[in-house]
Amino acid sequence: MSDEPLRLAEGMTPAPREHAKVLGHTCEREGCGKVAGWGFARPRRESHWFCFEHRGDGDRYL
Ligand SMILES: [Zn+2]
Repeated sequence: MSDEPLRLAEGMTPAPREHAKVLGHTCEREGCGKVAGWGFARPRRESHWFCFEHRGDGDRYL
């Protein structure tokens, strides 16, 4: 695993330390609450999840 940030597409396996299923996440955009299929995470940092519509918000965490 490199230091490159991870950008996970829907259906892909989340970061190894992240045991929650992809479908267990909801979009972090305030007022959205949709199922989040897009995860953004850096090594040793908490991951953040967004739906397809708001996945651009995850760029701030990379
Ligand atoms: Zn959303």
